[in-house]
Amino acid sequence: MRTVALVNQKGGVGKTTTAVNLAAGLAEKSRRVVLVDFDPQANATYAVGQNPFSLGKSIHHVLLGDVSLADIVLDTPLSGLRIAPSNLDLSAAELTLGSRVGRELLLRDAIEDLVLHSPEVDFVIIDCPPSLGLLTQNALVAAQDLLIPIDARPFSLAGMNQLINLVDAIGKAFRHPVRLLGVLINLFDHTNLTEQICEQIRHRFSDKVFRTIIARNIAISDAQLNQVPVMLHAPRSSGACNFRALAEEVLQRCNDVQAEWQWGRNR
Ligand code: ADP
Ligand code: MG
Repeated sequence: MRTVALVNQKGGVGKTTTAVNLAAGLAEKSRRVVLVDFDPQANATYAVGQNPFSLGKSIHHVLLGDVSLADIVLDTPLSGLRIAPSNLDLSAAELTLGSRVGRELLLRDAIEDLVLHSPEVDFVIIDCPPSLGLLTQNALVAAQDLLIPIDARPFSLAGMNQLINLVDAIGKAFRHPVRLLGVLINLFDHTNLTEQICEQIRHRFSDKVFRTIIARNIAISDAQLNQVPVMLHAPRSSGACNFRALAEEVLQRCNDVQAEWQWGRNR
């Protein structure tokens, strides 16, 4: 089982879009996926067909210890893909958990408990909020892998140092080194400007940048309005093709990392 956190403290770069459609792409490839909506804005919850305003229990109740992750997980229109939903209640988490000992470990413990009871889960994908606060820290402690979506627009690399510093600090404080699975370029539109920005991103992250690039495609946002992944809404759109390719590349990188790790251990 792999836990992948999608993190970037900048809003509007495609964290939620990637979390939903990568999770759907993996489910299409017969992987069993749980998507954790870890943003109080609840866009991922909405994008897979749930109404955040009429939920029973949500991820906030899991953090409070009222229920387990297995208790709140719901089916989506795509078999193989389930969602641990969120809503605005989650915005109180920083306050309600502020002084609790071990408050950064709550999501990790909840996922470990889920996997104990549902060992068939192949991937947990965490959609983070646009901040580096307690929720994102929980996601970084829970995840083995980090995926950073970056928008191909000006200022896209601003703030990357803070993010990398937080990942290092979490690694040291919890003896939990999170691997950078990859950096994903999103909102590409074939202009000179976006080409130039892609160059800057590749210069900074070299081979960590995914070969797959997600182009700006209206079918992607249409699908969100229709509350389904883009593969179900417009299976032949460039958006659906891009996210299928990303799912393939993620599977490949996960295998490579696994092999690297085993090789390291057997030496
Ligand atoms: P984040 O979760 O990082 O805040 P979102 O995934 O919500 O970002 O994306 C921000 C907005 O941009 C949304 O309205 C989404 O529909 C749109 N968007 C993101 N990626 C694409 C894309 N590749 N093509 C078209 N629209 C996109
Ligand atoms: Mg989002």
